[in-house]
Amino acid sequence: MNRRDFLGKVGAAAAAGAALPVLGSCSDKTAAGALGTVKESYQSDLLVVGGGPSGVCAAVAAARKGVKVLLVDNGNCLGGMGTKGLVGPFMTCYDAAGENMIIRGLFEEIVDRLIAEGGAIHPSKIRQGTEFTAWISEGHDHCTPFDPEILKKVYDRICAEAGVKVLFNANFVSPIMKGRKIQGAVLLTPSGLEAARARMVIDATGDGTVAYRAGAPCVFGDPESGRVQPASLFFRINNVDTYRLIADVVPHLPEFRRVNGVSYRCLHWRVAEAEAAGEWDLARKSVNIWRSVEKDQWVVNCTRIHGVDATDCENLTAAEVEGRRQVEELMNFFHKYVPGCEVATLMGTGSIMGIRESRHVQGDFVLPVQDLIDGVIPDDNILLSANSIDVHGAMGGPAGGLYMPIKKNMYGVPYRCLLPKDVEGLLLAGRCVSADSPAAGAIRVMPPAMAIGQAAGIAAALCLNNGTDPKSLDYSDLRPALLEQKVYLG
Ligand SMILES: Cc1cc2nc3c(=O)[nH]c(=O)nc-3n(C[C@H](O)[C@H](O)[C@H](O)COP(=O)(O)OP(=O)(O)OC[C@H]3O[C@@H](n4cnc5c(N)ncnc54)[C@H](O)[C@@H]3O)c2cc1C
Repeated sequence: MNRRDFLGKVGAAAAAGAALPVLGSCSDKTAAGALGTVKESYQSDLLVVGGGPSGVCAAVAAARKGVKVLLVDNGNCLGGMGTKGLVGPFMTCYDAAGENMIIRGLFEEIVDRLIAEGGAIHPSKIRQGTEFTAWISEGHDHCTPFDPEILKKVYDRICAEAGVKVLFNANFVSPIMKGRKIQGAVLLTPSGLEAARARMVIDATGDGTVAYRAGAPCVFGDPESGRVQPASLFFRINNVDTYRLIADVVPHLPEFRRVNGVSYRCLHWRVAEAEAAGEWDLARKSVNIWRSVEKDQWVVNCTRIHGVDATDCENLTAAEVEGRRQVEELMNFFHKYVPGCEVATLMGTGSIMGIRESRHVQGDFVLPVQDLIDGVIPDDNILLSANSIDVHGAMGGPAGGLYMPIKKNMYGVPYRCLLPKDVEGLLLAGRCVSADSPAAGAIRVMPPAMAIGQAAGIAAALCLNNGTDPKSLDYSDLRPALLEQKVYLG
């Protein structure tokens, strides 16, 4: 997609957002007739759209402050990319020196609960350059391997205990607007069209769909480069002879390198063999394969599909089919070329395509990547993180990421990133926050996404209790409330 197409998409986004019908004003009688009338079904203080890591944390944090919360997701479980997408492990929650755990709060509580159920290994025990990080030795210290099925249960329970009402199979269709103020949403559920009215809304859809349809300006991917990060369909395998696989990799560790943006890392020697035999056509030269919680289970992050527009149904459908084709090719590769994987079994592929990037909602403040590189801790800081800036497929083809190390031990994320332009009563959480494309590439991973969600939920609760709009919230009120919920701010 070229720069002009990208900019055209941005313009179209703003126009379409402004023109979308609101409840009661739908002029398409045929569609309305086919779906039935909109039922007045739900009334809450806070509606959270999207049950991924950021949405769950937003909902729980707000509910723990006494707010009546409705959390809706279009799938059948909570966790978003981490469960439906099979993505993992949790990226680092430590500082750049690898000394202190700096993402705490709900993230830490969820990790502890996972460990108590045998569903994770504590990040203090996981070092980079090992089989738990696909032997990657930069920016991957102290990841947290976890089991996605156990994570689903942990999320179910933590929401139920906090009193969050959860709806699955509930698709956000359009916002209910009064002028610029959002007052809920129309959902498409198995019961038909249903209105979920709320005094405040959090957009945790990843794609920024709520903000976009409410009229907030958005950009798609990186308007500067005209690129969007490639999509990847994750999958998990078991029946792996872990000791033989490790024995094949370890002697090659000194050869791991990056040449003109192309990574030659895990199993690059086996990929070369398959390539020479004409049995490899993926846009990668090595295989990211991470050991998971159980000894013989591995997570594979290796499919790569360039130019996917997750906001376009046909485009996304084609990507899902291509993702599964690539998984088949990879399974053949494992069986034929990789010691220890001769009889490996495909446990499953993600039930949603792994989308790294789509819309970035624009706020008055857009977090620039330079602030992360320089380790800026803003005055309205809501979390600390040291996750590296990793823009996958930045150069297209088999080229890997544009990897930018940070210069300080950590950076902060300002509350201002959660505030979309032109819409009142709405907060952003997770991947869609107001950040430029490379900055979003760093803070989109699950630990910071959870911390952003927790901050959004706390901010929403404070605003609801004070009767203020999120844009008027005083940071001197927000900071103690974050600390009260064990958020680490240094
Ligand atoms: C290929 C890939 C690899 C990654 N690797 C890692 C990794 O190793 N470690 C790590 O920590 N992070 C990783 N990430 C990043 C991380 O998984 C996501 O960025 C993170 O999950 C974002 O959280 P979120 O809550 O913003 O969105 P999501 O996890 O995307 O959750 C959004 C939820 O909203 C739902 N939703 C969307 N639209 C609607 C709608 N209209 N109505 C109702 N519900 C809706 C979605 O179905 C989903 O459940 C990876 C991401 C990808 C794509």
